[in-house]
Amino acid sequence: MNILILGSGGREHALAWKIKQSAYCDKLFVAPGNAGTAHIAENVSMDVNDFEKQRQFCKENNIELVVVGPEDPLVKGVYDFFKEDENILVIGPSKEGAQLEGSKSFSKKFMQRHNIPTAAYAEFDAASFEQGKQYILQQTLPVVLKADGLAAGKGVVIAATHEQALQAFEGMIIHKQFGDASAKVVIEQFLDGIEASVFVLTDGNDYKIIGHAKDYKRIGEGDTGLNTGGMGCVTPVPFVEGEFMQKVEERIIKPTVNGLYSEQIVYKGFIFFGLINIQGEPFVIEYNARMGDPETEVVLPGLKNDLVELFLAVGNGTLKDCNVSIDKRAIATIVAVSGGYPGDYEKGKTVRLPQHTGDSIIFHAGTRVEGDHVVTNGGRVLAVTSSGNSIQQAVAQSKEILEQVSFEGMYYRQDIGYEFE
Ligand code: ATP
Repeated sequence: MNILILGSGGREHALAWKIKQSAYCDKLFVAPGNAGTAHIAENVSMDVNDFEKQRQFCKENNIELVVVGPEDPLVKGVYDFFKEDENILVIGPSKEGAQLEGSKSFSKKFMQRHNIPTAAYAEFDAASFEQGKQYILQQTLPVVLKADGLAAGKGVVIAATHEQALQAFEGMIIHKQFGDASAKVVIEQFLDGIEASVFVLTDGNDYKIIGHAKDYKRIGEGDTGLNTGGMGCVTPVPFVEGEFMQKVEERIIKPTVNGLYSEQIVYKGFIFFGLINIQGEPFVIEYNARMGDPETEVVLPGLKNDLVELFLAVGNGTLKDCNVSIDKRAIATIVAVSGGYPGDYEKGKTVRLPQHTGDSIIFHAGTRVEGDHVVTNGGRVLAVTSSGNSIQQAVAQSKEILEQVSFEGMYYRQDIGYEFE
């Protein structure tokens, strides 16, 4: 079958890499894609939110499967848009299901309804601004403020003082710092623990765990400096495997999937559970309605199944009949970024890549083809994924490849996976 992937990051290159290996895949398109996807698929110049154009393209190119990478088109309703096109299966939640990511207020209420462990919270808007201020003053510190809607990962403030919290609150509600996305604000208890994410594919009735990972969000070594989209990640995470994962499944994954089903929320896609481990007990920090980036770059290389076969089972509602098999080896990915990122950075720098990468994979993110070479086109430029007998071995392998990659201003963290042997 012909398949279209929407998106242009490392996640989408990893999806393309995996889908390309499927026995079901004939022609593969990525819109808009990057220099890496151009190598293994056909890039199409089409906006991820231009659903009309996508429908036209699907008709002209006999596309039967659309895999949605980023959250934006999901929250805008790409699944619902294609509902009337019976021959096209879209992997992703309905617009309502995507609210698990698109609205913190929706996801907190959903978790409350289904007794899913998460931080205690209250929500406020312009009408309840004064009550919100009182509420903030009663909270222990630090306190967490979250803009309700999508804010490109910038809508969360962890305030160390009440003054800071009040200022952030006013910025969001009164000064509409994130526009409509901060018309409502969730104020929640700070949870102190270690974060990890678990990835699930669901057909709306059953689910399969396809992997988990720990990511490294800060720009600097030792988890210091500004937040980024993600500087690397590793799997498997020792504290996640075993008892913790059983608790996650029983207390979080099952009630989430059953909750979606019982509320008749259509969901045929990935669920990203952003979790925090507090002394062995899991809590949900956030849901995402799609795969993570760079987590996809370690999860998909570790997944032994034919991904398209799983997608077809999602479409048919027969996921329960599938056996998912995950590689036991350690997998790590390290992201190379443009100089200056996550602040201002320049694009268009020539990227030099090694001829041979052994068992490692270079997933492109912010790159594009210019003439006969590859140039940088974003903050996160590429991710190098490797496997090994230990996380340290996998990380060392990725670093060896990164030493052979170069572009002006290139930077990557040397310490991904530092806490694991
Ligand atoms: P992104 O999608 O970029 O991960 P987001 O805007 O959806 O971010 P969250 O994931 O909810 O926001 O929060 C971002 C980060 O803030 C989390 O990864 C976590 O490190 C921290 N955080 C959020 N909520 C809490 C909390 N209650 N206690 C402690 N830390 C928190």
